[in-house]
Amino acid sequence: MTANRKNTEKQIIELLAERSGLAIVVADGKSEPIDGANNNSMCRALYNSKEFAASCQEFCGHAFERAIEAGKTIAYECHAGLSCKAVPIKRENQQAVAIIGRTFLKAADYRRATERAIAEDWKDFSPTEFFENVLLTGSAQPLEKLAGQLEKLSDEDKNDFFRAANLLRDQEKSDDEQSSALIDNQPFGKTTTELGALIQQFHNANTETFDAPTENKQQTREEPEEIAAWRSLFGALLKLDYRQACRAILEFLHKRYAVNSLAWFERREDRLEKIAAIGGSLENVQVAVAADDERLNGTARRGGSLVLEAQKTIVSGEIARENLTLELFPFSVAGEIRGALAISDRIEDKNIKQKLARFCRTVASELEILRLRSELSHRVSLTRAVEKFNENLKKIDSEDFWLSLTQISAEILRAERASLLFFNEKSNTLLPKAVIGAVNDLSGEKIGARIAQTVLENGNPLVVADLAKNGIESSPLEWQYKTDSFISYPIFIGERKVAVMNFTDRADRSSFGDYDLELLQSITPQIAVAIDRASLKDKAGKYEQLSVTDELTGLLNKRYLKERLTEEIKRSERHGFPMSFMMIDVDEFKPYNDNFGHLAGDDALKIVGAALKEGLRGADVAARFGGEEFSILLPQTMCEEAVMIAERIRQRIETTEFPKRKVTISIGVACSSSGLNSPDKLIEAADQAVYEAKRKGRNNVQTFDDLTKSQPGK
Ligand code: GH3
Ligand code: MG
Ligand code: MG
Repeated sequence: MTANRKNTEKQIIELLAERSGLAIVVADGKSEPIDGANNNSMCRALYNSKEFAASCQEFCGHAFERAIEAGKTIAYECHAGLSCKAVPIKRENQQAVAIIGRTFLKAADYRRATERAIAEDWKDFSPTEFFENVLLTGSAQPLEKLAGQLEKLSDEDKNDFFRAANLLRDQEKSDDEQSSALIDNQPFGKTTTELGALIQQFHNANTETFDAPTENKQQTREEPEEIAAWRSLFGALLKLDYRQACRAILEFLHKRYAVNSLAWFERREDRLEKIAAIGGSLENVQVAVAADDERLNGTARRGGSLVLEAQKTIVSGEIARENLTLELFPFSVAGEIRGALAISDRIEDKNIKQKLARFCRTVASELEILRLRSELSHRVSLTRAVEKFNENLKKIDSEDFWLSLTQISAEILRAERASLLFFNEKSNTLLPKAVIGAVNDLSGEKIGARIAQTVLENGNPLVVADLAKNGIESSPLEWQYKTDSFISYPIFIGERKVAVMNFTDRADRSSFGDYDLELLQSITPQIAVAIDRASLKDKAGKYEQLSVTDELTGLLNKRYLKERLTEEIKRSERHGFPMSFMMIDVDEFKPYNDNFGHLAGDDALKIVGAALKEGLRGADVAARFGGEEFSILLPQTMCEEAVMIAERIRQRIETTEFPKRKVTISIGVACSSSGLNSPDKLIEAADQAVYEAKRKGRNNVQTFDDLTKSQPGK
């Protein structure tokens, strides 16, 4: 093939890929693809990896043969959940196949992919590269259309660039009269430079997002100048991080359309929450609306706006809520509401409203990719920080336990100053237990009176980026704080107030924010357990100790376990962390009692308890569930890992020496990922798995997951 022709082909491919927003990769049955454009970054990463190349081979790898054999376009969904088509095309006298699409058609599929990239088998890929160019498509239509175009191009016309380009133009024209009007004015040339110009035209006309509804085709298109302005913004966005991008969008809209008081909302679970705001009443307050409002879906589909009541929360020491009327421009990605532009000023101009709606839909996909990228690197760093915390927690020896714990927490939050205040129920006061970086003596009543007390009373943490803006009185000068940003975080066990941790003075003087809050949400349960246990030990009264620990084994008891389970389930749902739970039942223990007596039985249970404790990691919670049954809660642990731990525990017991005879245990594992969202459900599921282990002859590990798989309909 001549260099020139090859060049032409490449440009046509690029043009089509750009126009459709889909990947195109041309294969001729040899090992490497010969040409491609707009490839999905996930495909690149998976295809080039050791572990997943074989899976890619099963799908895209065999697509060439399968399409040639079928003699027509074939469609498939690959192992990564991407929708693809393989279209046979002719390149001079060679057979080739264009593999197109590589896009997520369903929100569920791409959400699944993010989960895998965050915490599962894809987590070793670098988030930036992996999510650099993820393709998301709301409907199957663009894929159908592109396949149709390639099928038509696949005859001898493709040898002639001029005719190919014209063919393309005709197709575009019949698809969309308005946009091709732009191209009609341009003379077609025969050289590649002119093809470049044509491509530019297509670029410019391509303002459609993947989610653009078909009924919108009739709507007036933006002016070329408008499109150029949008394009240049979109180009700039990709270089920003997600939050910066949201702000940049608001600033752009504010300048360009003279709208004031704007906010950008993001979907978080069942709410749309403000993540950026400029101008006026939406700054420095939390604002949210319910995301399940049916009208949002309808509006996003039609591409308009709607007026809604939102709830505004003002945090300034105390918390006040009020309602607020907003005009929302919602947008969806792959069929799901993902966010909205919100404006609290009235906009009268219909034309502007239309432009804003179109803008939101157009920017939606790009922003979603930025969001995924940032969420991913965020989760990765959060998980690492929590791991580090747990590692360090294990190393702490008891002497300076509280000081070390506060020190580690401060390091994770990069705070120069931190304090840990214990709540004393009897006197209803907070007492400093450990203080890092203080310049003066912090004993006495003053500590905590200003903020920590309120925080513990309200039960909500307080993150302040700037004291003055929140209307909080500055601290006494002699405290010599270097910055006006701090976090005050209450610690509870169940409903019980336990302590408050405070952090301030970032080493780099930056402000605390949501990320720090999430970090604390992840580490405070461990801190709570430590505080709880230690304070119980401090108390002489045995009765108190009995309230959370099991007397015989010294493990935690069922009451405590249930409280922790409730908390852990909430946390795991909030952060998308996995968690696992296991039930352990001693095998044939009745005969042990019958043969050697109840006291010998008790001794054996003590040994089992001690062995369980030894085998666990810092954050795991071992409890005696009752009788000869034990349980272990494994926060932030995936099912596979839990099974490995269970197996290790089983072996440990099997090889432990007991005074009278060998003892074995049966273990059932259940994981929150199986939709088990309450303590009772998790316990019940793990119980069923134990039952299965007994049925299978005892001394083995079973999972609830396998149980449900082997019994469909359960
Ligand atoms: P398997 O679980 O393998 O089916 O047999 P098992 O013999 O262990 O059966 P089951 O779980 O029904 O019986 C539990 C026995 O454990 C009953 C009781 O003799 C003994 N047990 C329960 N709690 C205690 C306790 O606190 N101390 C002692 N010594 N024995 C206990
Ligand atoms: Mg039992
Ligand atoms: Mg038993």
